[in-house]
Amino acid sequence: MTGPLRVPPGVAAVRLPADVPPEVRRRLLESGTVLPPFTDAHVHLGLVDPAPLRARGVAAVHDLGWAPHEIAAMATGTAAGPALPRVAYAGAFLTAPGGYPGDRAWAPRGAVEEVADPVSAVAAVDRQVAAGASFVKVALNSEAGPTPDDDTLAAVVGRAHERDRAVVAHAEGPGQAARAFAAGVDRLAHAPFSEPLDDDLLVAMAASGTTWLSTLDIHGWGDPTRDHEVALDNVRRFVAAGGRVRYGTDLGNGPLPVGLNARELAALADAGLGRRSLLVALVGDEPPAGLVSFVPGPAPAPADPGPVHAAWLARATVLDLAELTNPEGAA
Ligand SMILES: [Zn+2]
Repeated sequence: MTGPLRVPPGVAAVRLPADVPPEVRRRLLESGTVLPPFTDAHVHLGLVDPAPLRARGVAAVHDLGWAPHEIAAMATGTAAGPALPRVAYAGAFLTAPGGYPGDRAWAPRGAVEEVADPVSAVAAVDRQVAAGASFVKVALNSEAGPTPDDDTLAAVVGRAHERDRAVVAHAEGPGQAARAFAAGVDRLAHAPFSEPLDDDLLVAMAASGTTWLSTLDIHGWGDPTRDHEVALDNVRRFVAAGGRVRYGTDLGNGPLPVGLNARELAALADAGLGRRSLLVALVGDEPPAGLVSFVPGPAPAPADPGPVHAAWLARATVLDLAELTNPEGAA
C-alpha cells in the first residue's frame, strides 16, 4: 500500500513512506484521511504560546512582523522541537517614519524599521534577509499614519525581488491595495477590507498571481463587522476571477484560536471555496517536508458543500512521518 493517497487535484499528492509499518498505515487510512501539511500564512508567533499549534493542525507558519533576532531564535527553537510548527518569517515591518505599527503596544523593540527613502529601504531589506527572512513585510496603512512614498515602496519591492524574496503588504485605507499591486507587491497580508475593489483591479490581480492571505475572522471573531462583509465580498469576486487565496489568520491579533480556525475556514467556504480550493489554500505553496495532516473520522463526500468540508478540515492534526515509522512514537 505505497500508492498515492486520495488528494484532490491541485494539491501535491502525499505518499506515506515505505518504512511506515503496515499496521500504522492501515490504522491511519481506516480511521481518517491523510493530507499534505497545512500552513497558516499570517501569524505573529511572539504574541501567542505556539505549543498547541501542531496538535491543532498547523504544521507551518509564516510570521509576518516581529523583531528579526527574536523571531529567528523562535524559528531555530521550533526547528529543534518536534511538537512545534516550522517557521518562516519576514522580520521587521518596514514602514514610513511615524507609520503603522510603530506606535502599537504589541510591537516589541526592533519589530518596526522606518524607511524614509530608497537608500534606507534597500538597507532595511538587506538587514531582514541577513537575519534569515523568507519574505519582506511592508506596511501601507494610511488609516494609521504615513506610508512609504512611491519611490521608497518601489525600492523595497525592487530590492526584495533582487534578493529573491516575496513582498507582503499590509494594505489598509482607500487605494492602498491598488497601490501595493501597482508597485509589484506579491501578497496582501489581509484580504482587502477597507473598500470594495473594482472588478478590473481584481481581475488584474488574479491574472498576475497576486496572493491574498485571508484573515477574514479578525473582523469580529465570529461576530462579523462591516470590514468582514467588505473583505468577504472582495474574496468572493477575487476567487471567481481565479485569484489565489491562502489560509492566513493573523494569529496573535485578537482572540483567535491557537490552531486551525474553523471560523476562518467557514468564511472561506462562504466566499465560494469548495473542498479542493480550501485544501489549496491550506497547503499553500511550500508545504513542509516530513509532516502530514491527519483528519480523523469519515471524510465528507466530494459533492458536499464547502462549509461541510471546512468544518471537517478544521479537525486536522499534524503527524510527523519520522514518528510514524517508529511505532513507539506513533500515538
Ligand atoms: Zn499581522
